[in-house]
Amino acid sequence: MTFEYAPAPESTSIVDIRPSYGLFIDGEFRDSIDGDTIKTINPATEEVLSEVVAAGPRDVAAAVEAARRAYQTVWGTMPGTERAKYLYRIARIIQERSRELAVLETIDNGKPIRESRDVDLPLVAAHFFYYAGWADKLSYAGFGPHPRPLGVAAQVIPWNFPLLMLAWKIAPALACGNTVVLKPAETTPLTALVFAEICQQADLPPGVVNIITGAGETGRHLVEHPDVDKIAFTGSTEVGRQIARAAAGTRKRLTLELGGKAANIVFDDAPLDQAVEGIVNGIFFNQGHVCCAGSRLLVQESIHDELLTALKRRISLLRLGDPLDKNTDIGAINSAAQLERIRALSEIGELEGAERWSAPCPLPDRGFWFPPTVFTGVSQAHRIAREEIFGPVLSVLTFRTPEEAVAKANNTPYGLSAGIWTEKGSRILWMADRLRAGVVWANTFNKFDPSSPFGGYKESGYGREGGRHGLEAYLAV
Ligand code: NAP
Ligand code: MG
Repeated sequence: MTFEYAPAPESTSIVDIRPSYGLFIDGEFRDSIDGDTIKTINPATEEVLSEVVAAGPRDVAAAVEAARRAYQTVWGTMPGTERAKYLYRIARIIQERSRELAVLETIDNGKPIRESRDVDLPLVAAHFFYYAGWADKLSYAGFGPHPRPLGVAAQVIPWNFPLLMLAWKIAPALACGNTVVLKPAETTPLTALVFAEICQQADLPPGVVNIITGAGETGRHLVEHPDVDKIAFTGSTEVGRQIARAAAGTRKRLTLELGGKAANIVFDDAPLDQAVEGIVNGIFFNQGHVCCAGSRLLVQESIHDELLTALKRRISLLRLGDPLDKNTDIGAINSAAQLERIRALSEIGELEGAERWSAPCPLPDRGFWFPPTVFTGVSQAHRIAREEIFGPVLSVLTFRTPEEAVAKANNTPYGLSAGIWTEKGSRILWMADRLRAGVVWANTFNKFDPSSPFGGYKESGYGREGGRHGLEAYLAV
């Protein structure tokens, strides 16, 4: 039985989007020297929200120069106890402005307000609080008595968790005494620009954080700038490879957080209702725009039919639509380009012989939408079993023994995350030992905490973000 819900849209009156934004360099918003402009839109309505700069090479150079100066004159020499105060202040302002930031994130990205409000924003604040706590304790972090910062960090982030990825990058960098130049994704620049205002509000010394908007070219100019000491990138494996090539042979330190094709493995003794919730959360959270999404469901053959029936029943109840509505489970796809990629790979899934099922939900007329979709009868050779779709599409494979589950789960060029659903603790440990994945969740999925490190094996990248391990990427150790 389905329930009708009255619309419950979150008010947008709390956000004040300016018609255009400059670049945040040396503590102030500036006009571009040699850039272009790009428009950012609301993917749920296709309405233009604002115009931002696509920073050119001279803009990038000005930002790197400001970061260098701030590193040499204030931030790199400031005692950790003082840096911590700024980070705590930023964390508290984020909490105070969290509703505004959540609404803005939802408008610019398309994700449901329930997620931006209850997941993204609390984690963003938690990240700044967590690394504020490390700033004056670096001597005890296990990297020697006086670990030194690296200098200027160039940080490039994707559109799927715009503010959360910013927090993952900026909080540890600043805690360790580095200064940063960050480029948000072309389609989701707005919360990063409000974060720039928050840096002003916190009286952060000019140049410690610089935010330059733009597309891929701006990112390329930034990571290739000769005065950058450290590059931190999250995004596609393809761009990650280009960056690794460009950084090879330079003194720049590099961390890469790339794609994934995680296995979510359900054994016949798993609590099925819980597993169904975990599978739904694993692949439909954030429309599946999640690098660690559980996009391959490996189900033990004996419970395949029972699980799929329960799963489809649950998926049919997901509510797709206005991301600002507090009842919405599935929001908009972030861009026309991403929607096209999801459509193309789904069509290939059908052509290669997998069976496609989509939830029977109506799609809004405007904006970018894709219904929650499940492919059954998928084999390991299918492209939908090998390639990252980065959308609300689940590929279902089966296995008979734990050995076969491990072999299939590891049969991927990626290795970011995995999930195991079973009653047996011994089996969880046995599996976790053998899965080549940075994070292994047991009887849960997509759980994040600033104190626990996150990162990949193989083509999912290298380096760890979060926790004590995340400090290492920003210290000369
Ligand atoms: P992407 O091109 O790798 O974008 C990531 C970031 O890098 C963005 O800020 C992007 O700018 C920038 N960038 C692009 N080309 C660059 C270059 N040559 N040098 C430096 N920076 C550059 O990823 P995407 O196009 O947004 O998404 C493509 C696929 O990547 C997705 O379908 C998904 O499979 C994967 N992905 C993975 C993650 C993850 O969390 N691991 C996140 C997003 C996407 P623009 O945004 O302006 O292009
Ligand atoms: Mg946008």
